[in-house]
Amino acid sequence: MSNAVDPLAITVGTGCNIRCRHCLVEPNLGSESISEKEIRSLVLEINKFSPGHIVFTGGEPALYLRQIRQILSGISIAVPPKVTLITNGYFAGSRAETESVLKGIAHLYKVVVSYDRFHAEFVEKRKISILLDVCRDLGLQVKIVCAVETPMDLVFLNSLRSPGLVVSIQQILPMGRAKKNGMEYRCASFDRGVLDKKCPNLGGMVFNCGSGFTVCCGPLASFADKSEYVHGTIAEHLESVFYRILSEYTFGELAAVSGWDTVRLNPEHSVPCRICTALIPGIIDKARNGWDPNKKGL
Ligand code: SF4
Ligand code: SF4
Repeated sequence: MSNAVDPLAITVGTGCNIRCRHCLVEPNLGSESISEKEIRSLVLEINKFSPGHIVFTGGEPALYLRQIRQILSGISIAVPPKVTLITNGYFAGSRAETESVLKGIAHLYKVVVSYDRFHAEFVEKRKISILLDVCRDLGLQVKIVCAVETPMDLVFLNSLRSPGLVVSIQQILPMGRAKKNGMEYRCASFDRGVLDKKCPNLGGMVFNCGSGFTVCCGPLASFADKSEYVHGTIAEHLESVFYRILSEYTFGELAAVSGWDTVRLNPEHSVPCRICTALIPGIIDKARNGWDPNKKGL
C-alpha cells in the first residue's frame, strides 16, 4: 500500500475543558467521543495505510487518553508512526501531572500547544511554561500555534517567542464559535497567489469521530450534509470525486471551471479554505450534472 496518507490526524473527541471564543469546532464536525467500534475500524485503516505520522487532536485530546492508548496499542505495522499531540495545555498543572500524560503516549515525539490571547483567558501561562519545560526535558519537539484575528494579535505572539521555540500562526476561519462571535481573520486585499494553490492538507488525511475520513480539516468536513466530503474508509475517500477535484485542480482552475471572474474576488478569498468552500459545492453539483473532472485539459 502506498504511503498516500501522511499524516493521519485523528479527532478523538470534540469535547474540551475550556470554551475559547474563537473555537472552530462545529457541532456537525463529529461526536463527543470516539466509539469502541470506530477505534477497531480506525486501527485496521492505520495498519493498512501505514501513516508515518499520527496527530491526535480534538476538542482537547488529553481528555481521551484511554482511547488514544487503545488506538496506539492496536497498531501492528513494522515501523510504528511518530505521534504528535495537539493540546491546549490545561492538563499541565504540575511537572508530575504533565510527565504522566506525555509519558503515557507511545511514540510521542512532538507536542503542538494551541495558545493565544483567547486560550489565555482559560489557561494560565504558568501551565504553558511547565508544559514546554517538560517537553524539552523529555526530548520532545514542541511548537506553539497562535490563532490570529487581526495583525494586533502578532503582539501576543511575539510575547511568546523565546530562543529555540517554534511559534506559528493560524488564521481564524468563520466556523464554530468563531462564526457565532463574528470572528475571522480579515485580509486587507485579495492575494492572487491563492489561485495557484491547492488544498494545503493534500497528502494528509483526517479521521473525525462520529463522521469519517476526509482530507478536509476545514469547513467542508463540518457541513450538515457532508456525504460528498467525508467517507467511511480511506480508500473510499481517495476514490471520491471530491478528492479527485482537490488533487487535480488549483483554486484558479476551479474558479475558471465555475466561470468566476477572478478580477473581482474578495479579500477573504485569499485564504485557501475560504475560496475552497465558496467553489467546491458548486463544482460537486457540476460533477453530479455531467461535468467530468477527469477531462482536465482535454
Ligand atoms: S479552540 Fe481548542 S482549546 Fe479552545 S475550546 Fe476549541 S478545542 Fe478547546
Ligand atoms: S476547506 Fe478546502 S482547502 Fe480547506 S482543508 Fe477543506 S478541502 Fe482543504
